Amino acid sequence: MIEYQEIFDNFSEGFGCWTPEQRLLQANDAFLRLMGLGIKKPFSELPEANALSHAFSEISGVIMKQVEIQGAIKNFEFRLPHEAGASRWVRVNAWRVLDTDNSSTRCYAAYLADVTNLKLKEAELSHLAFYDALTGLPNRSLFINKLAAALQAAKRYPEQYALISIDLDDLSNINQHYGRDFGDMLLRHVATTLLACCRETDAVARIGSDDFAMLLRDPEGGSGLVKIIKRIRSKLETPFVIWEQQLDSVSAHFGVIFPLNDYDSQESALRDAGLAAGRARTTRNNLACKFFSKRMMEKARKTLSLTVVLRKKHDLKGFHVVYQPIVRPANGDLHSFEALARWAHEGRSVSPSTFIPIAEETGFIKSLGEFIIEATCRQLHCWQDEYNAAINMHVNVSPSQLATSDFPDSINDILHRTGVDSSRLFFEVTESIFLRDFAKVLHNVNLLRQLGIHFCLDDFGTGYSSLSYLKLLPIECLKIDRSFVSDLEKDTTSRVLLRHIVALGIDLGYSLVVEGVERQTQLSLLNEVDHLLVQGFYFYKPLSTYVADALLEETYKSGTLKRISDTKAPLKPAS
Ligand code: C2E
Ligand code: MG
Ligand code: MG
Repeated sequence: MIEYQEIFDNFSEGFGCWTPEQRLLQANDAFLRLMGLGIKKPFSELPEANALSHAFSEISGVIMKQVEIQGAIKNFEFRLPHEAGASRWVRVNAWRVLDTDNSSTRCYAAYLADVTNLKLKEAELSHLAFYDALTGLPNRSLFINKLAAALQAAKRYPEQYALISIDLDDLSNINQHYGRDFGDMLLRHVATTLLACCRETDAVARIGSDDFAMLLRDPEGGSGLVKIIKRIRSKLETPFVIWEQQLDSVSAHFGVIFPLNDYDSQESALRDAGLAAGRARTTRNNLACKFFSKRMMEKARKTLSLTVVLRKKHDLKGFHVVYQPIVRPANGDLHSFEALARWAHEGRSVSPSTFIPIAEETGFIKSLGEFIIEATCRQLHCWQDEYNAAINMHVNVSPSQLATSDFPDSINDILHRTGVDSSRLFFEVTESIFLRDFAKVLHNVNLLRQLGIHFCLDDFGTGYSSLSYLKLLPIECLKIDRSFVSDLEKDTTSRVLLRHIVALGIDLGYSLVVEGVERQTQLSLLNEVDHLLVQGFYFYKPLSTYVADALLEETYKSGTLKRISDTKAPLKPAS
């Protein structure tokens, strides 16, 4: 018997029994500990042995009631507060012991197990199921739940909710270039930035590898949303440092659904917000943001069908080149052309902003890119032959083309086949090349330089390049993105920014082209700046070969365009 007592006292689970008046009759150490009495001595020697701890007396009241109704309770879990704010989770099995004549309850007996660690594990698992481990933000599942509730509420109060999808650009390139851990740090930085831009009633989540979403309460209309997005953008565009490496900005695109009353399914709301963000990426606007509309849906369907067409038949029928003049702003004299690809598909002209990304994704860009370059070189050679004219030709080259090992060889073949004077050729590349396999890009660029081709950085100011990167490549010309020009009349910041970029570009020895000049008012502001070339609808839209030829002939006859033998530096405009 004594041995049993010893085993009972040392048992790791708690066992105890008490009277209906809550007087403790018997209990082992574990039971007392779990009750929060924290007692080591044998139970019988305790002065307060008969008193249940305050917290347990509350719980035991509940246990007794349940046992009276059901006869016994199984695996009933509760949290027992201990001293100093601590608490333990306890699982209890309890039953009653009747009198010898079975007429009334003699005592209640309970068996207690400490399940605190189990509970913590459960909480951890449920956190993992609903939160993104990397950023700590709610994940897609939890966000979908929140969205479901919002969609219900939005049926009655449509203006009270807005959904924003936030797509980061170039995360995969950043991973490739700086490593995955760096990419993870960037994602954390974005998460903190988004949280800092919203209120407690809003929800922010990471819903895909480089996709975030926000559910906003009471966004104060479309203009309120624009303000919020501007705030987020300005924070994302503030330079920050990760592991001693400074990044100038995080580029992202935003898709908005507002109001949110038209949706029954959370997935379709998220899909449409994502679609709008995708559209924001391809149709450039200053805010990098698109509000979803039904028209957008139609357009997306068409793009999808184009994707199917391009995937199926990689043939080059229907593709051709148009030429947009680059001019001197003071008098509009022709200086160069930019070759731009066009695709005539089913009687419509499809924009390169639509088909180039698809061509890149499907791998078609290799043959399409070479086709465009060859057609352009043939045309340039014709013009060089016919007019002996010092006209430069810009051609766009995709980063994926430039990073291909056999690209320089293919270009060498094209130069031989067409007989073009390559020193008049400028390959336009965008800042995303800095995020590619840079060693490969640099190697190819140097080989192409040896073939006589010049390089121009397109859409300058919109991407990731820092000036230190710029210096690594033999780039001679910067094409300042049209977003700097679009607000020039209204926005003094744009004006100051443009003036500084131009001054810096000139100081560093680049020649400069400003894209997207559409109005006289923009031009007159640009005229204040020396040494610029401009390109834009104000002077010329992209021209067919025939019209470009006529323009060249006229220019040549008027004597504005110099003969090849009279010119040396290919791009510097006459000051
Ligand atoms: P980009 O190289 O920056 O070309 C300039 C784009 O701006 C052209 O659009 C041109 O038509 C447009 N643009 C010129 N002036 C103005 C203006 O004053 N206002 C406005 N709103 N737009 C103006 P496009 O032809 O639709 O080409 C779009 C983009 O597609 C090009 O941007 C380039 O990135 C890409 N692309 C075009 N052709 C090719 C190609 O042969 N190969 C590759 N890889 N990309 C190409
Ligand atoms: Mg270009
Ligand atoms: Mg451009």
